[in-house]
Amino acid sequence: MKELFPVFKKNKDLVYLDSAASSMKPQKVIDAINDYYLNYSVNIERGVYNLALNATKRVEESRKKIAEYIGANSKEIIFTRGASNSLNMVALMLKKILKPGDEVITSELEHHSSFLPFLNLQKEIGIKLVFVPLEADGRITIDNFKKVLSNKTKVVALTHVSNVLGYKTDVKEIIRLSHEVGAITSIDGAQASPHMKLDMKDLDTDFYSFSFHKMCGPTGLGILYGKKELLEKLDPVELGGEMNDEVTKNSVTYKDLPYKFETGTMPIAEIFASGATIDFLSEIGIENIEKESIRLRNLALKELLKLDEIEVYNKNQESSIIAFNIKGVHSHDLVSVLAENNIAVRAGHHCAEPLHRFLKISASTRASFYFYNDESDVSKFLDVVKKTISFFREVGYID
Ligand code: PMP
Repeated sequence: MKELFPVFKKNKDLVYLDSAASSMKPQKVIDAINDYYLNYSVNIERGVYNLALNATKRVEESRKKIAEYIGANSKEIIFTRGASNSLNMVALMLKKILKPGDEVITSELEHHSSFLPFLNLQKEIGIKLVFVPLEADGRITIDNFKKVLSNKTKVVALTHVSNVLGYKTDVKEIIRLSHEVGAITSIDGAQASPHMKLDMKDLDTDFYSFSFHKMCGPTGLGILYGKKELLEKLDPVELGGEMNDEVTKNSVTYKDLPYKFETGTMPIAEIFASGATIDFLSEIGIENIEKESIRLRNLALKELLKLDEIEVYNKNQESSIIAFNIKGVHSHDLVSVLAENNIAVRAGHHCAEPLHRFLKISASTRASFYFYNDESDVSKFLDVVKKTISFFREVGYID
């Protein structure tokens, strides 16, 4: 698989285990970006000349592909700058309909981009954030979700797959229960979209957010899926060019969906590439992607668990991430040694500080596997982790 990703040709020794931060981009996606700059380079939706019309057609083809891929209608696909942008837009759209005292359910498992926009609304308009109690290992369960769901719940904003522990939350049941009390659901799918088949009709969520750069696609582009009936009722959060229908000195009407939520010039090259991304993922098959990522992760996990010096925070789970530490060693020290050996993993709180407080650790080491990794990546990683443990013991850093 590595041959499909130019970056590995130039970095033959690279062991890339940071795909949860951003995935590598295949030639096919890079070609689509170049195609825009080499053969189009014009704006969309405005011009009536051929280049502009053809570029607009390509953008709408990408939108349609994405809609079909996630079981949605094209009108429900809003292009954004990324998952963070999408999640912020949801909070801003709902700001107008939320009232002081309305409850918004979140959790300590969230990425900051899912949680902070609503923390801000707590300060700005007096909504109340309510946290789903986590199980001891950090999971969200339906039983615990039920403990906080009530008639006061107006929004449920939770992550589909945790970016630190890799847990898959049963969001389908959470969405069903939320709708029973009339709450709006917003799901952060940034870590789910690279690994899972998404089906908006089946999930029945009101909002769903994800980024392309984590799923072999371009940076700077995300999707905000929103249910058509809901989007029609909500106002845009950004005003400016192209999203309006008629403007006078003191009034404005908005375009139809999805354009009323897309202000100004869009990232056109990236949108071209999003269609190529969907083609790429479909050719390989998201099930195969997930199976291989988990297989490699489990190979590494099995060996790490044999080492007494290692603490793993997410042993019993079904994803592609290992969150761990060498006991008594700061994760930054470990990842620095790994980096010297051309092994890329992440250290820190991974934009999930409340979760690290919950786990009572300041930082963790995150190795995230994807389908383009191979068994030699696993053995190089394990080899350096073992050597690092021996080295830290020799210098008296650990017992
Ligand atoms: N949510 C989760 C669960 C994530 O892992 C990330 C990316 N780390 C985001 C949201 C934000 O995505 P982006 O940086 O692409 O906006």
